[in-house]
Amino acid sequence: MDLRLKDKVVLVTAASRGLGAASARRFAEEGARVAITARNGEKLSALAQAIAKDTGAEVLPIVGDVTRPADIERMVQSTVDRWGRLDVLITNAGGPAGGKFLDLKIEQWDAAVQISLMSVVRLCYAALPHLLKNDPPQRGAIVAITSLSVKQPVDNLMLSNSVRMAVIGLLKTLASELGPQGIRVNAIAPGWTRTERVEELMQGRATANHTTIEEELKKQAAAIPFGRMGDPDEFADALVWLASPRASYVHGIVLPVDGGTIKASL
Ligand code: NAD
Repeated sequence: MDLRLKDKVVLVTAASRGLGAASARRFAEEGARVAITARNGEKLSALAQAIAKDTGAEVLPIVGDVTRPADIERMVQSTVDRWGRLDVLITNAGGPAGGKFLDLKIEQWDAAVQISLMSVVRLCYAALPHLLKNDPPQRGAIVAITSLSVKQPVDNLMLSNSVRMAVIGLLKTLASELGPQGIRVNAIAPGWTRTERVEELMQGRATANHTTIEEELKKQAAAIPFGRMGDPDEFADALVWLASPRASYVHGIVLPVDGGTIKASL
């Protein structure tokens, strides 16, 4: 199926590795022009060059922190300066700190609101004027990468469980407000997916429990019907479809990509 993404302009934030990087690569494979952002310029530039070389697509690295309002403005503006338009916004960021309620300090709540909620709010404010310039009926799409924690609370992740629900409220409301203007708004909720971040987490558990990373992965995967974690490419396939014009009548949803972990999804 042709996803009709050729020459579309896509901005993926927090994309130097993991789910953001896999998604950016998949957009490039579909012929889109892709801007990727992260805080580490060297790593980001190397990734942009690798994706461009492998796919033949144009890839623009933009160094920036999604918790800094001026950086967000610059991410969007640099993308539009380069290609003259914006069609798709993918919001992504590092996850908020882990911990139970009584372990957390108020400052960590403030930081979680900045990284998980306000980054999405600010990116939408910065991107929408450009999306609205596109021709109807399909002016563009916003997809926010969230977490399975918006479907079911995850133990020890109080901040993710709480703050990401505000993102869902934002997106549901935006879907109502922007649908009439031809802009699709959706969220995607990854379950356990084997990124570097997850491997680091599993390595930490292995060290603490005197086990191996493979044993810890197996333990974590036991609750997943497939008995394994997802691959970032499997996540990217779902995200790129959701953001593409081929998902033209899919609007205002949270799409779980979790191997059936959340039973209530069906
Ligand atoms: P990751 O740590 O591998 O990648 C995160 C990316 O965000 C990196 O490129 C990092 O450089 C960038 N980043 C972090 N903070 C940033 C900031 N302030 N400004 C700009 N860039 C920043 O993580 P991942 O596993 O790819 O997860 C991506 C998102 O999905 C996270 O919010 C995570 O909590 C969420 N998530 C992941 C999983 C999973 O199993 N991988 C499951 C549920 C939710």
